[in-house]
Amino acid sequence: METKTVKAYGTKAVDKPLEKINIERRALQPHDVEFDILYCGICHSDLHQIKNDFGHTAFPIVPGHEIVGRVTRVGNQVTRFKVGELAAVGCIIDSCQKCDSCHEGLEQFCEQFPTFSFNSPDKYLGGVTFGGFSETYVCEDKYVLHVPESLDLAAAAPLLCAGITVYSPLKHWNAGPGKKVGVLGIGGLGHLAIKIAKAMGAEVTVFTTSQSKVEDAKRLGADHAVLSTDAEQMKTYTGKLNFIIDTVSAKHDINSYLNLLKHDGTVVLVGLPPEPLQVGAFNVVVGRKSFAGSNIGGIAETQEMLDFCAEHNITADIELINVDQVNEAFVRLEKGDVKYRFVIDMTSLKN
Ligand code: NAP
Ligand code: ZN
Ligand code: ZN
Repeated sequence: METKTVKAYGTKAVDKPLEKINIERRALQPHDVEFDILYCGICHSDLHQIKNDFGHTAFPIVPGHEIVGRVTRVGNQVTRFKVGELAAVGCIIDSCQKCDSCHEGLEQFCEQFPTFSFNSPDKYLGGVTFGGFSETYVCEDKYVLHVPESLDLAAAAPLLCAGITVYSPLKHWNAGPGKKVGVLGIGGLGHLAIKIAKAMGAEVTVFTTSQSKVEDAKRLGADHAVLSTDAEQMKTYTGKLNFIIDTVSAKHDINSYLNLLKHDGTVVLVGLPPEPLQVGAFNVVVGRKSFAGSNIGGIAETQEMLDFCAEHNITADIELINVDQVNEAFVRLEKGDVKYRFVIDMTSLKN
């Protein structure tokens, strides 16, 4: 297939820093949208993948799955997008569209496995897909989202993964008025979980290992903030919460959070610690509690989330960086030293 060479930022091996590389984008297909990438967020999943935490990273890898930009070309069958409009892509760029999950709008659970925006088998070009740390993106229009023009574009980019990953379980487990919701870990996902759960009407308590974030939590909208390393503070929340969203990226003790649930409450894991987490039998049996998981969200729900965020004026708190600061950003992300999401100005790749 004819291809177009574009600039990107990626790495060829697990122990190598990211650097400027060239990649190929496919020739525009009848249903494809091509857009110039303006901003791309940095998710902890990008960090897990470049470190090969899950053991399935294909190198060279170009990360980035919180992608926003402006449409430059559309295929002749495309009706949903016009040249010059805003466009966004999150994690999913293809799925079978035949299975029950796809029919239910749950493309993230496609029985044939969805194609992800990076590090996923590329059915057009072979090899793997390359993500948003690049100049342009090409993708079937069905998987491209409309970004409301009212949102700050750089600060909206993290909604494409962090936003939908917390919106979907908050909605599924009915976070809303009368519900006491806990948010565990205040990083990219966690700080958006605070804003979205508040906008849904829930009472929000955050649990953080960082004293500076305890102080910042109320500014983000939380009703209460707890330093999770302080056993006395933790004890006062025993049996108090209906639902906890756990965004922690590393191994941690899940049982101490199950203890904070009321009967019939749920801890939902969205964080992806590479090591297994141990759940004590009594921590779920007593109180009929659930320990669940959730993975991003479907395409229609992602659009719904973007529209919800526009209505409630929700975007991420970001540190905007140039592409040559990416390696430093990953080092800081690993340490939890970002308030609260790095976003790359992708136009800096042109320099
Ligand atoms: P992040 O910005 O790095 O935030 C993670 C937060 O977890 C940190 O800021 C820190 O918060 C807390 N934390 C980190 N290490 C910890 C430890 N050892 N013990 C206790 N708390 C710790 O990461 P993110 O981008 O929000 O992503 C979070 C996780 O979700 C990652 O594993 C990512 O891969 C995963 N993820 C999953 C999905 C999905 O669909 N399921 C989608 C996107 C991301 P405090 O400083 O407040 O303690
Ligand atoms: Zn992500
Ligand atoms: Zn499917």
